[in-house]
Amino acid sequence: MAGEAQSDCLFCKIVAGEVPATIVRESETTVAFRDINPQAPTHVLVIPKAHYPDAASLAAGAPEIAADVLREAGQVAADEKVDGSGYRVVLNTGSGAGQTVWHAHAHVLGGRGLNWPPG
Ligand code: 5GP
Ligand code: ZN
Repeated sequence: MAGEAQSDCLFCKIVAGEVPATIVRESETTVAFRDINPQAPTHVLVIPKAHYPDAASLAAGAPEIAADVLREAGQVAADEKVDGSGYRVVLNTGSGAGQTVWHAHAHVLGGRGLNWPPG
C-alpha cells in the first residue's frame, strides 16, 4: 500500500533508526538529516516518514505530507541561517535528473552562491 515502509529502502531504514544519520529536525510526518555527500555548506535532506517513490507521488498520495516537507525545508533553512542569503529546495525526479534514492526527498542547499539554471 502507498506510504508503507519498504524493507529495501535506505531512507525508510533511516526513518526506522536502522541506518544512522545526522538528524537536524523531526516532525510527526518528516525527518531532516544531513546529506552524506554535501554539495554546499548547508545540504540537508527532508523526507516524509511514509514511503513514496518521488515528490509527485507523495503530492498525489498524501498532499498534506508534501506540504509538511516543504514547510520543514523552510524551517531547516531558518535553523541553518541561510534563509536570508537564499537557498534552494530541489526535488530530483527520475534517474535522468539525478534521482538515486527512490524515497521522496527534498534537498535544502545553501551557504554558497547557487547558479541558475543548475546543471
Ligand atoms: P538524489 O540523488 O536521489 O536526489 O539524492 C539522494 C541523496 O542521498 C544524495 O545527495 C546522497 O548523497 C544522499 N545519500 C545517499 N546515501 C545516504 C546515506 O546513507 N546517508 C545520508 N545522510 N545521505 C545519503
Ligand atoms: Zn522508503
